[in-house]
Amino acid sequence: MHKNFKGIEKTVFGRGSFNQLGDILAERRNDNDKFMLFVVDHYFKGKDLEKKIPALAGDVVKFIDVDVHEPTTEQIDNLRDTVKGSKGIPSAVIGIGGGSIMDIAKAVSLMFTNEGSSTLYQGLNLIKKPGIYHIGVPTISGTGAEVSMTAVLTGPEKKLGLKCEWTVFNQVVLDPDLIASVPRNWWFYTGMDTYIHCIESENGILNNAYSHSYAEQSLKLCREIYLGDKSGQTPENDDKLMVASLMGGLSLTYSEVGVCHALSYGLSKILGTRHCYANCIAFNHLEDYYADGVKEFKTMIAKHKIDLPQGLAKDWTDEQITAMAKVAYNLPHMWAHAIGPDWKDKVTVESISALYRRL
Ligand code: NAD
Ligand code: ZN
Repeated sequence: MHKNFKGIEKTVFGRGSFNQLGDILAERRNDNDKFMLFVVDHYFKGKDLEKKIPALAGDVVKFIDVDVHEPTTEQIDNLRDTVKGSKGIPSAVIGIGGGSIMDIAKAVSLMFTNEGSSTLYQGLNLIKKPGIYHIGVPTISGTGAEVSMTAVLTGPEKKLGLKCEWTVFNQVVLDPDLIASVPRNWWFYTGMDTYIHCIESENGILNNAYSHSYAEQSLKLCREIYLGDKSGQTPENDDKLMVASLMGGLSLTYSEVGVCHALSYGLSKILGTRHCYANCIAFNHLEDYYADGVKEFKTMIAKHKIDLPQGLAKDWTDEQITAMAKVAYNLPHMWAHAIGPDWKDKVTVESISALYRRL
């Protein structure tokens, strides 16, 4: 069966395009209970961007600190219940922030129309009704959350996305001005998520002409941003990074991620390591699987003098390592893509544990 997915309905790209958000929202203002819900990364509280948010009287603006924890089911349920209880159903939800905020916007948009707790819907196609209109405005680029059909949530039992066609944003606003303030280390780790998406998408059995074309262009942009003569965090490279992130996301959507993301999920689940950082920690030691990619990655690390700790595994217990290896092993689609349909003959919880011991 070939993948058949819905894309973002509308995309605006360009420096200053954030100023068009008010016009975009004007078309929606008579929907539902006639107010907008903005969810905004709290980094922007008191910054210039706060003044540019096109909120009118009656709209709700929630600033959310994404550093306390990654988005949770409880947080989504509370946000939905508070807003619904006090004002009703918004005309639209607008997420202004990184992967965390965009996932919150996607998830809450679905939960305004689907009853009960979001824990009921963690998984593929469990959502019953389309959500309300939702807009993604990325302020840090790399995860591809702006284009993906999942909203990753941590629940009491599992860390799993609300994954369905209705999760995809109706509108995305890509304004490279918004990513200029990203701290350098995060610019690197989050950008590397895109690079790794492409390397993994390309190196596996699901790679195809469609996914390859996106990966090829995204990798070209990543090389200009992180390796070229004009590499670094410049306005020109920010334009490129926003596009690379989206294309990397499309590439993996039509192919698959691989060994690095499997290991990274184990690190996030058991140790709480953040997605993009976890990917970098794992990828650094995966030369057996992605020789050229890892070599190039190390060049980029050196060029930008990025801190990437090593020797972490010596502080992990055997139980932690086994637990991480089990999480990774339970991602069969990633292993099948990276290693082949007979991956179970080659990969075991023990062999994955050995990979973790390298980190
Ligand atoms: P993030 O949203 O977690 O933000 C990382 C940090 O950058 C935060 O401290 C934030 O305040 C700060 N920040 C954001 N924009 C900034 C700016 N312009 N200037 C200064 N600081 C800024 O970052 P992320 O890496 O984009 O997202 C990680 C999350 O995305 C995780 O929760 C992960 O589960 C999720 N994710 C989702 C998908 C998906 O397809 N839905 C894919 C990968 C990861
Ligand atoms: Zn990723």
